[in-house]
Amino acid sequence: MILSRGPTFFYRAGAPRHPNAAAALGTAPPPAQLLGAFAPRNGSRLSHTLPKNRDLTYSVTAMQIIRQSKTYDVCIVGSGAGGGMAAKVLCDAGADVLMLEAGGPWDVEKDSKMSAWAYDSPRRGAATPDRPFGEFDGCIGGWDVTGEPYTQAPGERFDWFRARMVGGRTNHWGRISLRMGPDDFKGRSLDGVGDDWPIGYDDIKPYYDKLDRLVGIFGSNEGIRNEPDGVFLPPPKPRCYELMIKQAADTLGITCIPSRLSILTKPLNGRAACHYCGQCGRGCATHSNFSSPSVLLAPALKTGRLRIITNAMAREVTTDESGMATGVSYVNTKDRRDYAVRARIVVLAASACESARLLLNSKSGRFPDGLANSSGVVGKYLTDSTGLTVTGYIPKLANGVAHNEDGVGGMHLYMPWWLDNKKLDFPRGYHVELGGGRRGAPGYGIMGGIQRFNGVGGYGKSLKDDYRKYYGATVYFSGRGEMVPNEKTSCEIDPNVVDAYGIPVLRFHAGFGNHEILQAKHMQETFREIIHEMGGTPLSPMPSRASEYGLEPVGRIIHEVGTTRMGSNPQTSVVNANCQAHDVKNVFVADGGPFVSNAHKNCTWTILALAMRTSEYIAQQRNQGTL
Ligand SMILES: Cc1cc2nc3c(=O)[nH]c(=O)nc-3n(C[C@H](O)[C@H](O)[C@H](O)COP(=O)(O)OP(=O)(O)OC[C@H]3O[C@@H](n4cnc5c(N)ncnc54)[C@H](O)[C@@H]3O)c2cc1C
Ligand code: SF4
Repeated sequence: MILSRGPTFFYRAGAPRHPNAAAALGTAPPPAQLLGAFAPRNGSRLSHTLPKNRDLTYSVTAMQIIRQSKTYDVCIVGSGAGGGMAAKVLCDAGADVLMLEAGGPWDVEKDSKMSAWAYDSPRRGAATPDRPFGEFDGCIGGWDVTGEPYTQAPGERFDWFRARMVGGRTNHWGRISLRMGPDDFKGRSLDGVGDDWPIGYDDIKPYYDKLDRLVGIFGSNEGIRNEPDGVFLPPPKPRCYELMIKQAADTLGITCIPSRLSILTKPLNGRAACHYCGQCGRGCATHSNFSSPSVLLAPALKTGRLRIITNAMAREVTTDESGMATGVSYVNTKDRRDYAVRARIVVLAASACESARLLLNSKSGRFPDGLANSSGVVGKYLTDSTGLTVTGYIPKLANGVAHNEDGVGGMHLYMPWWLDNKKLDFPRGYHVELGGGRRGAPGYGIMGGIQRFNGVGGYGKSLKDDYRKYYGATVYFSGRGEMVPNEKTSCEIDPNVVDAYGIPVLRFHAGFGNHEILQAKHMQETFREIIHEMGGTPLSPMPSRASEYGLEPVGRIIHEVGTTRMGSNPQTSVVNANCQAHDVKNVFVADGGPFVSNAHKNCTWTILALAMRTSEYIAQQRNQGTL
């Protein structure tokens, strides 16, 4: 077993082991509290999870769970895209909602570094362990979360990015907000690969429309069949380098259109329009882009029906003898004690892999393989987007005159999939995200090393001259493609490792298939062709097939979905078309878990639309007394 990233792994078995591994963090409570995770709760229900080695069993009797007496209508786990939407819709519908969030609070108006300059910090904006996208980034989390390890099967790699804060990854996501198209729901019927969804575009279109109106998104209606139009605000004008890219794309017959980002170019629903500072990733202090706290949690809290408990790490969904969920147990990450809350309905929105982990850890005599897992499918069918980037130096942009490249914190143009896969050697498409120019003030690590441009590096005056010459003279193209689910890529509970809270962790299996590798080759060839058409030179050589043509490891694009997939057949899926667990009718999943396929369209707009649809279904069922 290769243990993945970070130094903090806590073995449940095997020697030698520190009596309380979490003490290594310097924050851990005495063993009884940490290891009490294994204390029996409802009679013998959890006895099979008791660890076998002696130093763990020592603590079992000392554990006490603090139970809340109140029963909420709904308990939502996670406050990101899916959880935020569930809270908004359910509170609007009159439900009394409790939300458990593993991370702490964050107030974008006070805490955002939207207007900071790199020279304000001695680090010049360089990344920190809990801000791998730079120290001013709006998201606390990362690939290594202290005290929360995960493991990987030997020789395999899945990179798992997790946020730990109210709003989750929506605090810094790219806001690229693409609808899936009619073909994306019916892939298997069209080409025999993967599986069809039990719903089609027409089922979700009304929710995409409502989402557009509620959240706000800019774009242009283009009439491209599988890139559905929306209810768009006007798009911002292309920047200079974007116009040059478009010119090259037009010559090569590649569709290049205004991007579609959930950022306000006009005021909407009481939120101000974007002032084009270009720093969306740091969190928008004027609430002009989409984040769960700005757009969903704020109005939900206003109803007076939402209570959010922060630093609450859900451990498992609790059930009664009849097999219905009764609530959620969690660890308070500050006092390290176990708590339990009661709810009539449980909505899991902890992100696709975390929700799968929660279900798999919710074992009992009735559900020995985990909750909602009679199919054995929880954790399977995991996919990410495929991704790779090619950067090119464009001499025409060198020694550029400083000019206005202000805009939103993202691209103003993009390239939707423009080809017919029937004429290609891989089944599914990709879109192209683009960037370049002089966007933003230079910070730490700018340009990835000047020697990439002049071949020698330098110092003193020549170095400064080179920076002036080359800064802004690059463009890059990032492909984001559809990965077809494969037998290998999945997650499961690692039987030997727990996290700092005593919760068993995930072990990943991952790898791309031939479809993705051939798609990556096509991306590489296309991006190099565009750079050459612009009169430029790619800054990296064409990678070989042995290196999968430069594909990023699975998980690295941070579009992981599919671990609790939906379907009509309870033997081959976890939830039904309403994201309701087949096995436990009062448990729902509102993150990317229910995706049947991972179209190249970045997943979050569909997570939001599905979460809205699921929550409206819950509200309707509550009204009818069915739930
Ligand atoms: C840098 C970056 C850029 C991105 N750009 C885009 C983009 O442009 N377009 C796009 O579509 N997608 C993008 N994404 C992906 C997008 O952020 C996710 O798809 C989306 O946030 C998923 O929503 P979620 O609600 O499932 O999970 P999250 O937003 O991750 O929220 C999950 C929440 O649950 C909490 N949680 C987890 N486990 C537990 C537990 N056991 N108990 C209690 N709480 C728990 C977490 O702390 C977190 O707050 C990007 C992601 C990153 C990191
Ligand atoms: S670019 Fe616009 S939306 Fe993004 S942080 Fe700045 S003002 Fe906010």
